[in-house]
Amino acid sequence: MAKKHSNNKCSFCGGPHSAHAALVPSPIEQGAMICTDCVKGIAEMIAAMEKEEKAGHAAGTGGSPVSMKKVPKPREINAFLDQYVIGQEDAKKYLSVAVYNHYKRLSQTASQDDDGDVDIEKSNIIIVGPTGTGKTLLAKTIARLLDVPFTIVDATVLTEAGYVGEDIESLLTRLLQAADYDVARAERGIVFIDEIDKIARKGDNPSITRDVSGEGVQQGLLKLLEGSIVNVPPQGGRKHPDQKMIPVDTKNILFICGGAFDGIERKIAHRLNTHVVGYATDAAKQNIQRDNYLQYVAPQDLKSFGLIPEIIGRLPILTHLDPLDRDALRRVLTEPKNAITRQYQKIFRMDGVNLVFAPDALDLIVNKAIEYKLGARGLRSIVESIMVDAMYDTPSSDIKELTITREYALEKIQQAHFEINIDK
Ligand code: ADP
Repeated sequence: MAKKHSNNKCSFCGGPHSAHAALVPSPIEQGAMICTDCVKGIAEMIAAMEKEEKAGHAAGTGGSPVSMKKVPKPREINAFLDQYVIGQEDAKKYLSVAVYNHYKRLSQTASQDDDGDVDIEKSNIIIVGPTGTGKTLLAKTIARLLDVPFTIVDATVLTEAGYVGEDIESLLTRLLQAADYDVARAERGIVFIDEIDKIARKGDNPSITRDVSGEGVQQGLLKLLEGSIVNVPPQGGRKHPDQKMIPVDTKNILFICGGAFDGIERKIAHRLNTHVVGYATDAAKQNIQRDNYLQYVAPQDLKSFGLIPEIIGRLPILTHLDPLDRDALRRVLTEPKNAITRQYQKIFRMDGVNLVFAPDALDLIVNKAIEYKLGARGLRSIVESIMVDAMYDTPSSDIKELTITREYALEKIQQAHFEINIDK
């Protein structure tokens, strides 16, 4: 209810009534006015103060140490991951411990005990695994559990500063956004860098020509991984001179890197075969499971693949994901909390329809995913192609129960065209 007093001034800022600001008279103090510009300014100031206060109070934020009482133990973290991710026991264990230790590092207070001068250093992680076996799923699931800011970024868009692409610092922009631009919170966050293998240098030798999306990026990334103050462009993308940068200390940021490292099996196999020599040859060679070389991945294989030793040194925890076999794919379809079949059952339940998948229909879906080399990623597209007609027709019918039989599924799959291999 702004009343304009054209002859009056704002008692707050002394400004006269203008085209954009109206003057609001005080209900108690005769002649006292406040202009709408001042009202807006005060409202913004209060919002900023409240945000700051909230950030300071939140657990594990600001400069205060985290209370370990509230932090889930590694076994609890693992059990949580089990609800969403099938198999991948090795990676789950490593991740659970790493996340728990991340919290421990955040909770350490100097000079509180005898160990005051022992600093727990961070242990960044690298996960090697074929595409579609759960790297991103693991990262996303961890994020559900955490109360530190978390973000997933893709290494493929990065190039060395000055080249077309994004500056390495922009990795942290997403973390800042996840932390609502609360720098202190972002400085304790977790960043998942996907497709780290795409910045491997081409070949095992240091490049003679410039490698702006490979080795150059690794050098830049090193700075972030080892912990330093980095100037981050608040809006991401490319830095430009007029943009105001936000300094972020990466010392306590945990980095989890993931990549498919296509072809690394050959390097692992080569290493294993050349190292297994002498009397033990036959016995040792027999113990090697040839269908899953990834489980033997070691830092030197990453080096052969094209990661620079300094980067490998900054990612001390190395773990792998197993390829998903028939059994695992079958479980992926039905077991996780938000398994694909459960999602469709929910969709149908919303229309009052009870949806059932016959066991042999599920076997067929898995077989087709394997036959078309689509892996876990393909399961969803196959189920979608089976369900689309039913999702179209059922809402307009009075069907209350729907069973997807093997025959029905086969007919629908044959109508769809899955011969083309879909990748990521
Ligand atoms: P990537 O390893 O390439 O990051 P994703 O994690 O994105 O693969 O997996 C793709 C999809 O496949 C997921 O959304 C999920 O539905 C399914 N999936 C893959 N691996 C698993 C797994 N181990 N457990 C449950 N679902 C999985």
